[in-house]
Parts: sequence; C-alpha cells; structure tokens
Amino acid sequence: MDLEFLGTGNCAGVPVYGCECEICSEARVNPKLRRLSTCAKIATIEQTILIDAGITELGDRFPRSSIDRIILSHYHIDHVYGLFPMRWGHCEHQLPVHGPDDKNGCDDLLKHHGILDFSDTLAPFVRRKFADIEITPLPLNHSKLTLGYAISSDNGCRLAWLADTSGLPDHSADFLKEWQPHVMVIDCSFPPLDCPHPNHNDIRTAIEIHEKIHPGKTYFTHIDHELDQWLKLHGNDLPETITIARDNLTIKIG
Ligand SMILES: [Zn+2]
Ligand SMILES: [Zn+2]
Ligand SMILES: [Zn+2]
Repeated sequence: MDLEFLGTGNCAGVPVYGCECEICSEARVNPKLRRLSTCAKIATIEQTILIDAGITELGDRFPRSSIDRIILSHYHIDHVYGLFPMRWGHCEHQLPVHGPDDKNGCDDLLKHHGILDFSDTLAPFVRRKFADIEITPLPLNHSKLTLGYAISSDNGCRLAWLADTSGLPDHSADFLKEWQPHVMVIDCSFPPLDCPHPNHNDIRTAIEIHEKIHPGKTYFTHIDHELDQWLKLHGNDLPETITIARDNLTIKIG
C-alpha cells in the first residue's frame, strides 16, 4: 500500500494569505514548502482511494475513472474543498464518497451532489471491506462529527489516519494500541500551547499519542505556519520514528 500526501496544511494553508513570516515568505518563492489543505491518496493493488479532499484541483490531478472511492474524515470545508467543482463533472458512474453520517454536511454538498454518491456512510467501529482494504472507523475529538480510520490491506499493511482531533477518545486509543499500525498519520496543527486546543493537537499532545500508540512510524499533518516556524528551531529534537509530512511525499506502508 502506497500513501501520497497531497495536502498537509490546515485550513489557512502555507503560505497564509498576507502573512510575512519567514515560513510564508519562503513558501511563496519555493513551491516545495507550500502546504495545501488535507488530502491524501492511497494506492493498493486493486484500487486508488482518496482520504479527505481538501485540494481544489482534484479534477486536474485525477482524470475521470482514476479514483475508485473517497473517504472523508468530516465535513469541514478544508477537507472537502475539492468536491465542490468535481461534483458537476461528467462520469459514467457515481463516485462513492464515504464519511460520517453528518446530515448537515458542508454547505449544499449533500443536497446538490452531482456525480458524487454520499449515501453509504460509515459508523464508529463498524468494519467495512472495500475490494482489497478493510476500514474500521474510529471516533475523534473535534468540533464536528469526525472519524479517524484504521485501514488495512489484504497483504497486511496497516495505516491509521487521524485528522482532525484533539487528543484521542479512550476507545479509539485502546483500539489503536492493540491494532499496532505500521504508519500513523495524525493532526499536529500547532507548536506547544499553554492550554490544549479543543479541536486540534499541538506537538506535545501529538508526541504523547505517538508514545502511547507506539506505531512503526508517525507522520504529522494539518500543519500551521507557526508549527513550521517552531520546527525550524526544534525539529531535529523529534524522535526518529516521527516525520513531518510534506505535500507530494509518497511513502510505502508495511
Ligand atoms: Zn506565516
Ligand atoms: Zn476540522
Ligand atoms: Zn481540518
């Protein structure tokens, strides 16, 4: 199973509009330092799946019929931007989009869904099989109904996708400790904060979760420009098993 990070930023992205900090100024001249909103591609032997859809140019990157399904963590705009233009596309079949059963969705996306089929929703701890992968949805702590995903392939690769969240609910943490992902991707939005943020992890909380779950490798995502700034000074002190994800980074799992 391959995972490609297509967007590793938070809602503002990097560079942040109008911001003249060092990180945003560098990202304006060096596209490799930019961060789009959350989106990733999983490729297995049998299928190509997107997890979250936060990049606007989804349609350019993925021609018709090149995606088998889309899995959404939640319906905040920075995770579904790309679906707004895509829904009015032309396609022989409806494209399945699976996510939590959030009747409000995002703006009019569920009501005017075009070529996207949102009817098959996912429920916490109800395992589902899609071709050569199995998905177990895990509740997360966020301001909107949000699911993380434990994703395993038929050939034994295990990936945990955990965005957006502040800490982890006990049941989800217990499941992951037992399940032992090869790779865990988790929301790490901010540098160390004095008070925990109610909706997102800062780097201290994200490291604590990494130590508790003990996956083979952890990738931090949903990164704010202030965290990038902090990492410039302190990034080398991170444990070896933690990597800061970057847009367009591809990794092999398992
Ligand atoms: Zn900035
Ligand atoms: Zn969110
Ligand atoms: Zn988000």
